[in-house]
Amino acid sequence: MTVPTEHVDVLIIGAGLSGIGAAHHLQSAFPDRTYAILEARDAIGGTWDLFRYPGVRSDSDMHTLGYRFRPWTQAKAIADGPAILRYIRDTAAEAGIDRRIRFGYRAVRAAWSTQDARWTVTAVHRGEPVQLTTNFLYVCTGYYHYDTGHAPHFPGIDRFGGTVVHPQHWPANLDHAGKKVVVIGSGATAVTLVPAMADRAAHVTMLQRSPTYIMSLPAEDAIANRLRRMLGARRAYPIVRWKNVVLGTLIYQLSRRRPGILRSLIRRAAIRQLPAGYDVDTHFKPRYQPWDQRLCLVPDGDLFTAICQGRASVVTDRIAEFTGTGLRLESGAELAADIVVTATGLRLLALGGIRLAVDGREVELPETMAYKGMMLSGVPNFAFTVGYTNASWTLKADLVSEYVVRLLRYLDANGYHQCVPTNDDPTVTERPLLDFQAGYVLRSIDEFPKAGSRPPWQLGMSYAHDLLKLRHGPIDDGAMRFSRRPLSHKAVRQPA
Ligand SMILES: Cc1cc2nc3c(=O)[nH]c(=O)nc-3n(C[C@H](O)[C@H](O)[C@H](O)COP(=O)(O)OP(=O)(O)OC[C@H]3O[C@@H](n4cnc5c(N)ncnc54)[C@H](O)[C@@H]3O)c2cc1C
Repeated sequence: MTVPTEHVDVLIIGAGLSGIGAAHHLQSAFPDRTYAILEARDAIGGTWDLFRYPGVRSDSDMHTLGYRFRPWTQAKAIADGPAILRYIRDTAAEAGIDRRIRFGYRAVRAAWSTQDARWTVTAVHRGEPVQLTTNFLYVCTGYYHYDTGHAPHFPGIDRFGGTVVHPQHWPANLDHAGKKVVVIGSGATAVTLVPAMADRAAHVTMLQRSPTYIMSLPAEDAIANRLRRMLGARRAYPIVRWKNVVLGTLIYQLSRRRPGILRSLIRRAAIRQLPAGYDVDTHFKPRYQPWDQRLCLVPDGDLFTAICQGRASVVTDRIAEFTGTGLRLESGAELAADIVVTATGLRLLALGGIRLAVDGREVELPETMAYKGMMLSGVPNFAFTVGYTNASWTLKADLVSEYVVRLLRYLDANGYHQCVPTNDDPTVTERPLLDFQAGYVLRSIDEFPKAGSRPPWQLGMSYAHDLLKLRHGPIDDGAMRFSRRPLSHKAVRQPA
């Protein structure tokens, strides 16, 4: 039997953008509280360390993807992966957070004991189980499998004589200079890769089953850069952050309320940036409404420029099979390829695959309901971070951290040891946690917790709304139950 070796007040799982942010909020609010971060990999940065494909970058602006507490000071608002990684690492190093990370610890199980009001967390380190205990478990493990991406089987792929790569596992020594490249996919990764590889490749073809909404945005935010020069980074940052929140919200609301207007704006912008006579409707006119799936941003129209220069092209068709030298399509057309990139997406994974148990009973995630999109019904002293799908991830991650800080303060102030969101309202009906039509979401959403039809179970996708609720809303809202040890099983406060 493994014996817990250590106790910390708060245990964070994951040292990506969210985990480092969570640690920063916690240690700023509670300098004397103990915490540790368990990180499965050997590096800080999560997504921004894992993905190494050419051109890897954000597709939302860094003034909102950056932390609230640390201004983004680079000129480029749509930033390269390495710059984002540096930002996360610098944040961790400057605040001494990096010293709290246990690298190579994969959390696999967490068991809550009401009697002790604490979690026992089991992690695997160098093949051996290790246990820690904690009063509060804060899971920042992102939303997808790190080991493999989504890889649909393509007929004949074994006979292909070229190289097949998935963007999640980019070989460091892959040289695409002078090569014919086919990128399968039409999402953010594909539209990033195509112009980035087109610089040196003989030609890059983006092969998509169906089109995606693609909007061009300046890589540099001129207003942000001017304000930073005038006011300094600290004072300019919140203004620019809000400017971008408001702009993003307006675009999202327009796409929900008047999709026709946005469709037409995006189409006309694409026509302006593509060669005369280009078949925009075949390749850039999706069948769904804007924001039913994530809208793709391209900085300074780089994808359109590569198409205009003849270095890249888009083919909208289906793969019939791989041949020895490329791909045969259902239309009968053939695409020659030396390198095929399968930008076919991610495999979603809830809570980094950690199995939860409460007082000896296994927690089945689809049977739980997410409270404020960050805690789980029936699971005490536990929070997780899942960011927005329609805005930058960190906007939500920061709010989750701020709420956790308020919650811990509330427990302290009232002498409570345990808090657990409880849904005993039979009129709350279930909703999917991510109300988003993208294929990678639809493939696995059944394995995730549910959201509910009404607050606080309803999934908020509005930053302004969440800000009011998470930063300023009451902690004791009736759905959150509090108790002291050892009156553990009995809630000391019932809803009004
Ligand atoms: C290519 C790409 C581009 C993206 N671009 C944007 C963008 O522009 N804007 C945006 O808002 N979002 C974007 N996203 C979403 C992106 O993942 C988030 O913005 C953000 O990086 C998530 O940070 P995170 O720390 O929550 O998760 P991650 O970055 O996934 O980090 C999670 C960390 O937890 C660790 N971990 C996981 N499971 C365990 C476990 N069981 N035990 C221990 N450690 C564990 C992982 O090793 C990892 O280090 C993008 C995603 C991808 C894949």
